[in-house]
Amino acid sequence: MGSSLLSRPTEFLVGKRTVDQPLGACIRRWINVAPECVCCEQAIEDSLHVLRDCPDIKSLWVSLIKPGWVNRFFGCNIQEWCSMNLRENCGRDGGQWRDLFAVTCWLIWKRRNEKMFEDQTSSVREIHDKAKVILISFNSTKNRLQHVNIRGAQTHSERNSCSRIENGVIVRVDGAFSHNSGSIGCGGTIITPEGTLLESFMLRLPDGDALFAKLWECLIGLKRAWDGGQKSLHV
Ligand SMILES: [Zn+2]
Repeated sequence: MGSSLLSRPTEFLVGKRTVDQPLGACIRRWINVAPECVCCEQAIEDSLHVLRDCPDIKSLWVSLIKPGWVNRFFGCNIQEWCSMNLRENCGRDGGQWRDLFAVTCWLIWKRRNEKMFEDQTSSVREIHDKAKVILISFNSTKNRLQHVNIRGAQTHSERNSCSRIENGVIVRVDGAFSHNSGSIGCGGTIITPEGTLLESFMLRLPDGDALFAKLWECLIGLKRAWDGGQKSLHV
């Protein structure tokens, strides 16, 4: 049971923020970090080097893009590079290049962080295999959600309006996916900032995957909060 890919419970803060962004911790993390790339140790690390120009990553991109695009692909700055890949079809396999590009960039960045912070090394070829699996899951989930009514209540009843918490509520949700049966389940609670339970809910669906479970837990949590009269939503 469960998903190793998307296994963390999700918490929405509805109404106000309670957790400061750990900016100070992020800045402190970078003190005393060497400027060289952690993967190749051959160049100063900047965003474009990590995402495109690091030797292993460059060979990955060369295997993914059309041969005639190589000079243009590697000859632009990061703004032009992102814009080009999100607007034009540079991929060898046609179709969905924009999605493959975005997921591949995310996996490259994740791989770099695993090397830097956890000293984990993985093959660059794994990036393409993982990207293909993620895109299959995206497409499958997209097709399933096309038939789901996600509209919230247009008006709120008098009872629900009276129960609205002015300081906001906290929606905690979690979901699970069974590799054996393919079924998914999700549920959660809505509580006040003081910890008073306002509502709990759960949902079981006959088939899906880890991403579908994750999206359903977010959807059902936000929908219950909205339908329950909590109108000020900060996610
Ligand atoms: Zn490098």
